Amino acid sequence: DAARTRKLAEPKAIQRKSNAAEENKDIRALREVSRQKYLKKREEQKLQELRDDIEDEHYLFEGVKRSDVEYRDFMHKKDIYNVLAKKELENGGHEYRIPEAYDDQQAGVNQEKRFSVARQRYNDPNAEKEEAWEEHQIRKATLKFGSKDKRQVCDDYQFVFEDQIDLIKASVMDGVKFDYEKEVALEKSRAKRSALDAIREERKKLPVYAVRDKFLQAVHDHQVLVIVGETGSGKTTQIPQYLHEAGYTKHGKMIACTQPRRVAAMSVAARVSQEMGVKLGHEVGYSIRFEDCTSKKTIVKYMTDGMLLREFLAQPELDSYSVVMVDEAHERTLSTDILFGLLKDVARARPDLKLLISSATLDAEKFINFFDHAQKFEIPGRPYPVEIHFTEKAEANYFDAAIVTTLQIHTTQPPGDILLFLTGQEEIETAEEHLKLRVGALGTKIAELIICPIYANLPTEIQAKIFEPTPKGARKVVLATNIAETSLTIDGIKYVIDPGFCKMKSYNPRTGMESLLVTPISKASAMQRAGRSGRTGPGKCFRLYTSYSFQNDMEDNTTPEIQRTNLANVVLTLISLGIEIEKLFQFEFMDPPPLDALKNAVELLCNLGALNGHVKLTKVGRRMAEFPLDPMLSKMIIASEKYKCSDEIISIAAMLSVGGSIFYSPKNKKVHADNARMNFHTGNVGDHIAHLNVYNSWKESNYSRQWCYENYIQVRSMKRAKDIRDQLVGLLERIEIELTSNSNDLDAIKKSITSGFFPNTAKLQKYGTYQMVKRLQTGHIHPSSGLAEVFPRLVLYHELVLTTKEYLRQVTEIKPEWLLEIAPNFYNPKD
Ligand code: ADP
Ligand code: MG
Repeated sequence: DAARTRKLAEPKAIQRKSNAAEENKDIRALREVSRQKYLKKREEQKLQELRDDIEDEHYLFEGVKRSDVEYRDFMHKKDIYNVLAKKELENGGHEYRIPEAYDDQQAGVNQEKRFSVARQRYNDPNAEKEEAWEEHQIRKATLKFGSKDKRQVCDDYQFVFEDQIDLIKASVMDGVKFDYEKEVALEKSRAKRSALDAIREERKKLPVYAVRDKFLQAVHDHQVLVIVGETGSGKTTQIPQYLHEAGYTKHGKMIACTQPRRVAAMSVAARVSQEMGVKLGHEVGYSIRFEDCTSKKTIVKYMTDGMLLREFLAQPELDSYSVVMVDEAHERTLSTDILFGLLKDVARARPDLKLLISSATLDAEKFINFFDHAQKFEIPGRPYPVEIHFTEKAEANYFDAAIVTTLQIHTTQPPGDILLFLTGQEEIETAEEHLKLRVGALGTKIAELIICPIYANLPTEIQAKIFEPTPKGARKVVLATNIAETSLTIDGIKYVIDPGFCKMKSYNPRTGMESLLVTPISKASAMQRAGRSGRTGPGKCFRLYTSYSFQNDMEDNTTPEIQRTNLANVVLTLISLGIEIEKLFQFEFMDPPPLDALKNAVELLCNLGALNGHVKLTKVGRRMAEFPLDPMLSKMIIASEKYKCSDEIISIAAMLSVGGSIFYSPKNKKVHADNARMNFHTGNVGDHIAHLNVYNSWKESNYSRQWCYENYIQVRSMKRAKDIRDQLVGLLERIEIELTSNSNDLDAIKKSITSGFFPNTAKLQKYGTYQMVKRLQTGHIHPSSGLAEVFPRLVLYHELVLTTKEYLRQVTEIKPEWLLEIAPNFYNPKD
């Protein structure tokens, strides 16, 4: 019986066992399938990334000589790509070929071919002449030095430029003596250690390290410290870390450090997280408009001064901070100046809050006097001597002079990186293009020139490039805006080129006109710029202006921004902080703004409906204050609720916030680019709707890069617009405006825009000029506008800029009756 039972039972058991095996096999198979899928997906992603990279590169380098390193890198990428692509094809994927055009460009091998490409690219009748001249120059160099190492040629041989800039040495800015042997020994010992050790060593070498204990004692003893120290002494990167090490981040409190510029906040946070060995966004983070890279863990927070200002809205006593450091105080940006007033108040209410004001200039008296009981703390610096050169005669075109000077330094001066100050993104991009081309044309006999642009809209990874050490035998040229004056310290700069200009906002309270103008810098700025060359060794500064004009044409100091800007945004913030209108006029400003500017701001806010007849905040005003945007833009968004087109309006707002860098137009393809651009303007819809068309088409292409290339649109700007738009969607939700689309009713969209921008209207006059309806001012439609040659009778403009002429930028045609309907208190039928 027992045997029988066993017999009967046996098959069952076996069966069960095999079932289990089967199941296990199934699971394993399933896992394998999903693993394969995952791998395939990764592979695809990698392929796509490579493809993007290669295409980017193809497009960036088209017709331009690549350096050896760049070329090697590109070929390496291509090899990987080919392997992957072959696999993909075998697995039934699509075939994809890399653009061939510049594939065969062996760096420096095929001179003739490169010239012909350059010629085609620029389609320039003089190219041939130039080419012959350049060929001649190169021959001369080769004859003289045979096949010598190219580095040596660069040292020994002086290239002669037709447009040579003559500079005369003027003076030497004092500094300590440079101990070459010591520096070389240090450099050698540095290279040996591991990266983190090296960073630790670097930190100890900074001037602020020598006074670390003294500093912590001073913070302990005083509530408000004014810290003064040379650029590069370690204020921004070290002081928050010292405070953290000393326990100021205990009990869940944070250390805030404000920066006047977005790029600086991001880049410094990245550096400090690296020094502390933590992930960016965890313990160390940054917060800038439209981007919050912090978490619950964050204890050291770098932020723009504007963001700290906005934080007052949520926590008027800044309870989450134990220390607030207002960095780069000498810049005196609008937000920094407002922060001074608010912080002075908070410091009285919160004796436990430590306030640090840090500045790169020596005249700290003003800050000390403003904050009663403030203590001065000086970081002894040790800059090296800097030789100052001026031009002999005034330069007609500082931009061309800057390009030539860069090449002159590159071909005649000993190793050391160059820092060139330019006024803005557009100028930097043009300079990059010109330099690439001219260096390419100089041939392979000169050392490699690595061009590093830096400006606010540049992606972080590319920004990081400026801090990377320059490879041996090459030279780096950093093309920067004012940001490199004090906010960012770049090591290894030996030559500074200072054209003497920067882009500066100015505001005329009488006409209400705001303009962004290229203006001569102040003497203080010029000194700061020169100082950037003497940080790690003796330096040279080439000023592209005369010594006479330095003495006689330049102001001593830059006027604080608060005295040359439109205050509408600040007034709205202050009023939503609960500061009453009477108090506003008595607010403690370090340098008060012109009374007219304050009055204009209040008036504009009343007209927009943010303030009522008693100058109190309205519901509209409260909603407007939620947006980190200019009040007119915020009003436009809020009005979109009424016209049921919030979906379209936030796309337009996002595109306008990116600035004027959506389209680009390479010189050789200008006609194509212009045609592509005009496609978005079909029907003379105006620039606002054109922007919307661009955004929507890009979205339809599934946010494709290829689409951007084909339409001559900047991929980066579009990505940023998308980011901003996503944030605006979140903000709409917060103030409970539904996302509704009304894409067929262009008038509704335009009326919504008019609700925010009705003060900015202009009427057509004779000869194609425009007369502002409510201002004593005339101007022209900017040539980049789709309506530049259309001449509508009545237009609304986004901004009025003064360059060589007064220009209306981002223009849309509107109907007169809309103004009476939307702003009956502002306009009357007689206007
Ligand atoms: P300060 O604020 O006094 O001008 P910083 O703290 O900004 O000085 O700079 C101190 C040092 O840190 C400098 O030598 C600078 O080169 C270095 N540094 C700052 N940011 C970076 C970065 N992103 N990458 C590499 N080095 C950096
Ligand atoms: Mg700093």
